[in-house]
Amino acid sequence: MGHHAPGRREGLTGAAGTDEDAAARLEFGRRLFAQECRFTAGAMTLDALPAPGLPEVAFAGRSNVGKSSLVNALTGRRTLARVSQTPGRTQQINFFDLGGRLALVDLPGYGYSQAGKAKAALWSETVRRFLKGRATLRRVCLLIDARHGPNPHDRSTMTALDEAAVNYQVVLTKIDKTKAPDLALERAALERELAKHTAAHPLIMPTSAHEGIGIEALRAELAALAVDSPFG
Ligand code: GDP
Repeated sequence: MGHHAPGRREGLTGAAGTDEDAAARLEFGRRLFAQECRFTAGAMTLDALPAPGLPEVAFAGRSNVGKSSLVNALTGRRTLARVSQTPGRTQQINFFDLGGRLALVDLPGYGYSQAGKAKAALWSETVRRFLKGRATLRRVCLLIDARHGPNPHDRSTMTALDEAAVNYQVVLTKIDKTKAPDLALERAALERELAKHTAAHPLIMPTSAHEGIGIEALRAELAALAVDSPFG
């Protein structure tokens, strides 16, 4: 169960770490995410899931939330998003090996399509069962558009992750489109909401893929989950 418990450690901005510690974490994250990121498997069904191996970080969010852009920014390459947006692969769970130390798992986007007209694409039973039963899944990054906050789909995902006891962390996307006071209010409201969720990580990560904001901090946060991380 240990791997599912929300981290107690303070984040980079928390009071617990020294500046030196924060710098070492950032450097470790930078180096890990500079490694090769290789597509290893795409699974449509539970049978097709790769054998559990590396610790895994999954990325989830409604379609158009900025998931591909964020993962591209994190890895500094386009491989992951390109694979995941290949027609036929958008509804599968795609696995990537980052430097042999961490697996990145791209989950299908949920909710309405980009056009907003198409039918709601609900998460498949496969995704639900993956989330529930994957021993190596260390964290789900739940992407939420900073301008809009969580929608009903996001909230039901949060509840589902609570029920599955999967540690999840909210990553706000597109913060370049928000004004600082609005972002601060949104964060405070979300923090209060997350405090009521048993599996939610308390630290919210604000990011902008377009402007490169919060990317280094998120790398550092996720690198701590990698094999042989000194910060795990
Ligand atoms: P996905 O469907 O979740 O993979 O989302 P994409 O990464 O394809 O992005 C959806 C749309 O949001 C695209 O038009 C992107 O250009 C835009 N977008 C993504 N990230 C950002 C960001 O950091 N800032 C802004 N302003 N737009 C973004």
